[in-house]
Amino acid sequence: MQGNKVKCPYCEYENIVTGALSDLNSDNTTDWECENCEGEFELQAEFEPSWSASKIVYAECKNCGDVSRDFKRRGQVFPYPEMYKVDVLCEPCWRNGVLEEMEDERGRLI
Ligand SMILES: [Zn+2]
Ligand SMILES: [Zn+2]
Repeated sequence: MQGNKVKCPYCEYENIVTGALSDLNSDNTTDWECENCEGEFELQAEFEPSWSASKIVYAECKNCGDVSRDFKRRGQVFPYPEMYKVDVLCEPCWRNGVLEEMEDERGRLI
């Protein structure tokens, strides 16, 4: 791994700096002494972005039949519109339901 070696800015000797990770300051830098010329230089750690992966899950809306990745399941989202008797909704149906129930509530209050 190339990331563990750093060229000394004075003599270009390649220092292995694996151990520097544990000495990092809060700004991801630390001072390092060259093994060859004993010159001190500042070391900056550059971290690769890390990625995680998750499965893409499609579901069919039980109200309109649309298949989408963006769906709401009863018990996993709140609020879940009570007006639907189904357990899986696409985003637009869910939104409509939530809006409609909000309207209802407002109507009752007035
Ligand atoms: Zn050096
Ligand atoms: Zn739908």
